[in-house]
Amino acid sequence: MIPRSEIHHILDGYARDEITLATMGSHTALQILKGAQDEGFKNLVICKRGVEEVYQQFGVADELLIVETYNQFLDEKLLKELRERTVILIPHGSFVEYLSPKRIETELSVPLFGNRMVLEWESDREKERRWLTQADLRLPEEFKTPDEIDRLVLVKFPGAKGGKGYFIASDPEEFERKFEKLNLRDKERFTIQEFVIGTRFYPHYFYSPLKDRVELLSMDIRYESNIDGISRLATILQDCPPDPSFVVTGNIPVVARESLLPQILKMGERVVKASKELFSPGLMGPFCLEMICTEDLEFTVFEISARIVAGTNLYINGSPYSHLLYHEPMSTGRRIAREIKDALGEDSLESIIY
Ligand code: ATP
Repeated sequence: MIPRSEIHHILDGYARDEITLATMGSHTALQILKGAQDEGFKNLVICKRGVEEVYQQFGVADELLIVETYNQFLDEKLLKELRERTVILIPHGSFVEYLSPKRIETELSVPLFGNRMVLEWESDREKERRWLTQADLRLPEEFKTPDEIDRLVLVKFPGAKGGKGYFIASDPEEFERKFEKLNLRDKERFTIQEFVIGTRFYPHYFYSPLKDRVELLSMDIRYESNIDGISRLATILQDCPPDPSFVVTGNIPVVARESLLPQILKMGERVVKASKELFSPGLMGPFCLEMICTEDLEFTVFEISARIVAGTNLYINGSPYSHLLYHEPMSTGRRIAREIKDALGEDSLESIIY
């Protein structure tokens, strides 16, 4: 168990010129590793046996550690080895999913880029809603009970892993019919949310505590099965439409109308400000707001991911936005390494490791 007051001691004994950036071999590891190399760091990837070939094949990993299960990640022997190698870990989506926010906060005794507290705020739906409300964002309406359903809604379950298991309903009867079919044991744990109609944007932000600046690095749209497939057959399927599902299968690049950029940037800034008020020192590094733009050109935000998201994999070589900011290929993975390098340069590594 790592008490919060102790978190800074986690860097004790770390030779600043020996730092190795490491991550788990999955999700966005390729760009994190490449970004570390581009910024002049040694890197290391910890892989579950069987996936190491990817990292060898692309030549982006200086060193590889193999584990049999993701649970092994928290073995004291491995953690000790990581500390001995002066490792700073970079979290990503799979990292959080396999290790759980609680275990990362309390058991991971290796320096981690960013603020661990953020994981608890993004994974608990009530806290997440409080955070986004404090940031003055427009959120989808939520219905406390199925009887209140008076429009198209999306029924969400916790830990859905990319929308798996979600269903839509238009009235209480449709809800009951679909819900019964699921045969769930834990009947209470779901959220009924207004289904917002519009176009989706998933902007990839980066908050630099060193520069106190929110950067818009890139944006994507998630490609989801079967909802995105159904839209191609809308007229053919008119008589017997299948139930839509929202399983992420890929990512599509997008840029927003330029006149929407001020709103998009302001939303990112307000989220960072609210995070500082709620859980100081707040959010740092990469994050994504998942949002829908309606025909009135207003955004409704339905989720925050407070770490690097998989959609950034489109931009290993940079995006139109990151190009304007950096004039060099700047992926989100590389931007993380740059922040660590800048912190080392001004001897303030403590300000980005919590
Ligand atoms: P992840 O954790 O990977 O972000 P998740 O399991 O939390 O995914 P969401 O991101 O909340 O799932 O939702 C999955 C998909 O469902 C979204 O990408 C979007 O297409 C759709 N969706 C979610 N909420 C809404 C909403 N309120 N209105 C319309 N569509 C929505």
